[in-house]
Amino acid sequence: MNSSDMILVLMEKLRVGGIVDLSTVDWYGNASLVVFLSGCNFRCPYCQNSSLIPGDYGEDMSLDALRKRIEVNIDLLDSVVFSGGEPLLQRDGLMEALEVVRSLGLKTMIETNGSHPEVVENLLKRGLLDRVALDVKAPLEDEVYGRVIGVPALGGAAVNGVKNTLETCKGFGVEVEVRTTVVPKISDEPWFIRSIASSIRELCVAYQLQQFDNLGDILSPELKMLSPPSRERMLKLAQEALEEGVKEVYVKTRELGLERVK
Ligand code: SF4
Repeated sequence: MNSSDMILVLMEKLRVGGIVDLSTVDWYGNASLVVFLSGCNFRCPYCQNSSLIPGDYGEDMSLDALRKRIEVNIDLLDSVVFSGGEPLLQRDGLMEALEVVRSLGLKTMIETNGSHPEVVENLLKRGLLDRVALDVKAPLEDEVYGRVIGVPALGGAAVNGVKNTLETCKGFGVEVEVRTTVVPKISDEPWFIRSIASSIRELCVAYQLQQFDNLGDILSPELKMLSPPSRERMLKLAQEALEEGVKEVYVKTRELGLERVK
């Protein structure tokens, strides 16, 4: 029996804040359908999808409906990406959704803030993930991390979660792409990016710097007033990461989308 013959018994549903049916900027080199799951345990002041933070935002979606949605463009798709919010908060629905994607013969990726390494491990044990995109939002120090995620009390746990997620993925040999959002006055200094780069260079296949964009649904009204960092600034920070020993570095900007930096 091949994967497309498998009969799945679908018990769960997802709380979905939005779907992008075809994206080429979420997984470099892949055409992906991206599902944005509702709910997040962090409060990053620069969050660009802040309407997704409450767990009840959006609509319930059955996994049968998700399968049908994927099938509309299946000939164009390589993969399905589950983003958020924090998708691992919906662990049971996510697991069944990943099984649905597998049954359709597509690759899978999650975009996580790293706070639930035990869920990542469970998904990896079941062979349900091809790639993990991990937000590393700050240098791995409790105080600074807690400040950047907007929940100081969670700083230590968040740092441990990121470290454990990286080690777990390494143990399973699954590709990890680390992402940092570059935000004016928070994360746009060379020392900040170099510190993250030195922690992750042995544990990821790629590092992506994402340009803060104040057009989004920004959590902090003060940050909403700030302009995004320039593409030139992003490229300079990417060079800092390369010099720190990260082998593959990308920048994602409003101007030119996703580009690899050499
Ligand atoms: S940016 Fe922060 S608050 Fe927003 S969804 Fe991601 S982890 Fe949650």
